[in-house]
Amino acid sequence: MTVTSYALALGSNRRGRRGSPAQTLAAAAKALGVERLSRVRATGAVGPAGRGFANAAAILRSDLSPPELLEALKALERDFGRRPGRRWGPRILDLDIILWSEGSWAEPGLVVPHPEYRRRLFVLEPLAEIAPGWRDPLTGLTVRQLLARLRKGRPVDPGPART
Ligand code: AMP
Repeated sequence: MTVTSYALALGSNRRGRRGSPAQTLAAAAKALGVERLSRVRATGAVGPAGRGFANAAAILRSDLSPPELLEALKALERDFGRRPGRRWGPRILDLDIILWSEGSWAEPGLVVPHPEYRRRLFVLEPLAEIAPGWRDPLTGLTVRQLLARLRKGRPVDPGPART
């Protein structure tokens, strides 16, 4: 059994059983037993309705393989009340695998590093808080460098996905 590390992105834009989007992320991080959690980045309307977006990043240590972890994350999303099948609709909880300490993984339905994360401020900003030196296996750049490039409007594109 090898314990590996994962960088995860957590997002929510709808109140659920656990409360506001920010409360939902805190509860999800606790349920997962993450080792490190960034600050929760909240945007949009706040207040009693709890609308708006919340994003965070976390480091998880786990002996699960990427597909096993993805299954566990999907189960947690369901447990938090997310309904499957609505890709762009409101989401109580969205959990993505961003990076894996063992490198890359690609199979139908699961690609690590996450193909979009190099273009997403809401992923790179919280991740740079907790893992600035983590090196992306496809580009060789650290999270801090990927964030700097994105902020300059020059996100890094690793090219065609390797499978
Ligand atoms: P999402 O829209 O973020 O909930 O993701 C929908 C689907 O993306 C999931 O059901 C996964 O099968 C797939 N997927 C591919 N790569 C990843 C990844 N790195 N992390 C999470 N989901 C992924």
